[in-house]
Amino acid sequence: MKRGIFFEKLFVIFLLPLFFLAHCIGFKQVEHASAIITQETLRDVINIVPILILGSGPAGLSAAVYAARSNKYTVVLHGNKPGGLLTETTWVENWPGSERILGADIIKQLQKQAKRFGAHFVHDTVESVDLSQWPFVIKTEEGFTLNALTLIIATGATPRYLGILGEDEYWGMGVTTCAVCDAPFYKDKSVVVIGGGDSAVEEAIQLASYAKKVTILVRKDRMRAAASMQKLLKGFDNIIVEHNKVVEEINGDGDKVTTIVVYDTAQGTREKRQVDGVFLAIGHEPNSILFKDALETDARGYVAVKGRGQETSISGVFAAGDVEDHTYRQAGVAAGSGIKAALQADRFLNDRGFTDYLVSRLEGQFFDVFAKREGEGSLLVRNRKELEEILKETSVPVIVDFYADYCPSCVQMLPLFESVAHEYTDRAVFLRVDAQKAIDILKHYDVLKVPTLIIFKGNQLLERYSFVMDRSELRAVVESVLQ
Ligand code: NDP
Repeated sequence: MKRGIFFEKLFVIFLLPLFFLAHCIGFKQVEHASAIITQETLRDVINIVPILILGSGPAGLSAAVYAARSNKYTVVLHGNKPGGLLTETTWVENWPGSERILGADIIKQLQKQAKRFGAHFVHDTVESVDLSQWPFVIKTEEGFTLNALTLIIATGATPRYLGILGEDEYWGMGVTTCAVCDAPFYKDKSVVVIGGGDSAVEEAIQLASYAKKVTILVRKDRMRAAASMQKLLKGFDNIIVEHNKVVEEINGDGDKVTTIVVYDTAQGTREKRQVDGVFLAIGHEPNSILFKDALETDARGYVAVKGRGQETSISGVFAAGDVEDHTYRQAGVAAGSGIKAALQADRFLNDRGFTDYLVSRLEGQFFDVFAKREGEGSLLVRNRKELEEILKETSVPVIVDFYADYCPSCVQMLPLFESVAHEYTDRAVFLRVDAQKAIDILKHYDVLKVPTLIIFKGNQLLERYSFVMDRSELRAVVESVLQ
């Protein structure tokens, strides 16, 4: 074959399709990243959200402050854990600008500030995302389909679990991750904290004011916690640190934890110990599962961001806070990254011609947060008499949430309870009881901790759950009694 004909054939058979493919891919990327936003491009699109923020921890809320202040219509989906992990901590002494502030108060202040600039908050959680098209399509658990022009992922991270025998079985019955919530229930008891980081120190100190003995079990021969944090432990006689200890099993009497099996990696010995509580402080996993096929992540699942900014592998999608940061994991750093993400999202929109004029033409197509159901889904019950009257008159299941304002997990769970109550309003009755006020109900039904969920059917107490639940767990519980 002549050389010229050979190259011609090579070009037609192999190279041309490759050029074509590359062109298509390239074209899609260019179109995606540089398209000018016009009324025409968004003509048939409804539920538009110019800046959609997923998550309401310090990253999401700081992003909301900046996004709303830049005069962009901003919607925050609270997610399953409104306020994020900061609501589970007590005093924070390193939040810039405050000598000492409660984690929950940082969240309240940020939320108030973001609302002041016009950010909209929705108690809903993302169920699926499609980032292959623009606007990005986000489906929520409440059944909304949102079309986001920019997306800020601030979904945080979730505490890690040990995955050992008894951990699931005794979850909320002696096994927990939240000393702030549960420490008062361990007065004069003996507890262990598993982990060697700053959280382990913090949990142990929290517990030391209540428990008789707190033992920190560290799997290595040293703690990872900052030296300054470790120094704090010296002030507590009832805190002991043990190294080279791995907890292999958690056992109990069916109602609560009674013993654990501990393996000493240095001695090669195993022992059974009596304990009343097991507090896990073994780090976190990024909440990035929904994005793992769409966005670049690292080997541990943290969303990858470019250079010194917060943009992800898809133009117009940004990530901020613990979902992308495994190094610092500080509220202040999360807030800073949220701010950067909002500034970048604002620039993304401005660069594509998203002007005030265009906003005025498109406003009618924006997602109407007020279209969501208003009002409370559950009824507040103030005393035992009221409760028993409802129980007598009701044939469908009655689901009662015991909460208290001082309990961060309760504050997180209540809006989710309300939203599930709306969903099942025709098939069950939902009640809420303020545990600080309706003491007679607490005594009668032996409610010893909050949050607690009690389910009645046919005037009989059917089930009791004493741990914080997310929306899908609440739904599963309701579904199980409706069968
Ligand atoms: P870290 O990831 O820092 O520490 C996790 C700890 O758990 C490590 O000691 C690790 O052990 C141990 N661990 C992990 N898996 C297991 C397991 N399966 N069994 C036993 N032990 C295990 O998480 P933290 O939650 O402590 O801290 C997260 C971030 O938040 C850090 O950056 C920290 O500085 C910050 N923080 C700051 C606070 C403050 O400043 N007040 C308070 C709390 C957190 P190993 O070392 O062997 O890997």
